[in-house]
Formats: sequence, C-alpha cells, structure tokens
Amino acid sequence: MRIALVPTMGALHAGHMSLIAAARRRADKVVVSIFVNPTQFGPAEDFAQYPRPFAADCRACATAGVDLIFAPQANQMYPPNFSTWVEETALAQHLCGPRRPGHFRGVCTVVLKLFNIIQPHLAFFGQKDAQQALIIRRMVRDLNVPIKIIVCPIVRERDGLAMSSRNAYLSAEQRAVAPRIYAALQRVKAWHAAGWDCLRIRRALEHELASLPGARLDYAALVDEQTLEDVTQPHRGQHILVAVAVFIGTTRLIDNLRLRW
Ligand code: AMP
Repeated sequence: MRIALVPTMGALHAGHMSLIAAARRRADKVVVSIFVNPTQFGPAEDFAQYPRPFAADCRACATAGVDLIFAPQANQMYPPNFSTWVEETALAQHLCGPRRPGHFRGVCTVVLKLFNIIQPHLAFFGQKDAQQALIIRRMVRDLNVPIKIIVCPIVRERDGLAMSSRNAYLSAEQRAVAPRIYAALQRVKAWHAAGWDCLRIRRALEHELASLPGARLDYAALVDEQTLEDVTQPHRGQHILVAVAVFIGTTRLIDNLRLRW
C-alpha cells in the first residue's frame, strides 16, 4: 500500500487541492498535514495572524477523498528542550533564504519530522515554493530519506495571481494590483525572445514590480534552476528560474516562472 503525504499549513485552496488530487492518482492512501509551523516564521512575520480555518479545511479534505488529516499542536511537534535542527546550507543561501533567516531550517526540520511520523512513500510539494521544493529534494537526497518527492505546477487564479493562503490578507485594491506580478513575469518571455540579456531583464522586472501601486520589491532574480545561483550569461538551453518576492502593503507574495534560455 502506497502512502502519500501532502504537507500544508492549512487555509486550503485550489493549489493545495491539486497536490491532493495528484497524490490520490499516485497513492492508495493520502495523508494531509495541517500545521502552521512556528519555527519557519521570523519574529516580525505573520505567524499569529496566519489564517486557520480548520473546520473548512477538514470539509475540503473530506470532499477531496483525503484518508487522514494530521494536525498536531505546536507543543507536540516541539516539546520542551527541543534542540535538533535540519539545515540545508547551499540552496538556502539564495532568494528567500537571506531575507527570511531561519525559514528553511524551520521548513526542513518540520518536513523531516512529518516524514518520520507519517512515513509516506511519496510526498507532494508545489512549484509555487520552488526554492522550498528544491531544498526538500536536496535534504532527502543528502540524508537518504526513502521518500519520493513530487513537485506539482503552480495553480493560479483566473487573472494569473498564484494561489496562496496569504492572498486573503489583501484588500480589494491590493488584490487588483497583485495579478500584475504574474503579468510582469510573463513579460520576461517576450524580453528573452527579443534577445535581452539577463541583467537587462532583471532590471526591467525590478522596475515593473517596484512601480506597482502600494508595492515594495523584495527581490527579482534570474537563477539557475538547480543551483539557484545568479546567472549572468546563461548557455543556450540552460534552465532558468525567474523568481520574485514582492510586498503588497505588508503582505509578502512570491511567484516564479521557468524559462529555457
Ligand atoms: P502552504 O500551505 O502554503 O505551506 O503550502 C503547502 C504546499 O502547497 C506547498 O508544497 C506549496 O508549494 C503548495 N502550494 C501552495 N500554493 C500553491 C499553488 N498556488 N499551486 C501549487 N501548489 C501550491
């Protein structure tokens, strides 16, 4: 019997449901974990306000045919004197890593704990969090974790905005601006087709994102899809990840696009 795990922080949306559907296709039993993991939030981040619509999440899981929901309390996952951490040290140096110190350490630690508790054969992650998926793959390889990692495509709203539990924080005005993040990412394809180099594309992307009303750019980067290192002169055929993080008001949104140079 093949068991699949879909780790989430709840406030389930169609992005999560796509992972559950993919898990059902590949496994006999599907476990969804719902845990707002305190150790992956920085002190100034949104842990306290993160949405926790647990009853609605349970209904969504039931409708989707989930076999088990694992929703532990923080003190069960982190008992007193908890002092062991899992840290990936290369990929986490890039993109969100330096901007969210300790974030990926919290993610790796909780995901390995979930793997050990549930002992799934397969685990499903979203390309929405491309860096996270890559780091989990690296952790699993480096630590010989016998679980197959499957990464599913980004699910978007009709206007292109990547689905996220954090979209619920946006005011109507901010929600109207947010799809322009994806629109800016889409323009990268045209700039690439027009022969622009990486630096010119990055600057243009930074300019577009920084000019959105009420927005503050965190980063825009063109990186190698495997190493997450900045690319300046990619070779033809190289797989590039165009990754962005933008604050709209106080809400930090991330999105990305894969591009073959
Ligand atoms: P979260 O609850 O935000 O921690 O996300 C749980 C899982 O769902 C992660 O593997 C995310 O990458 C994935 N996910 C979140 N949003 C989306 C989306 N819009 N499309 C696909 N996967 C997503």
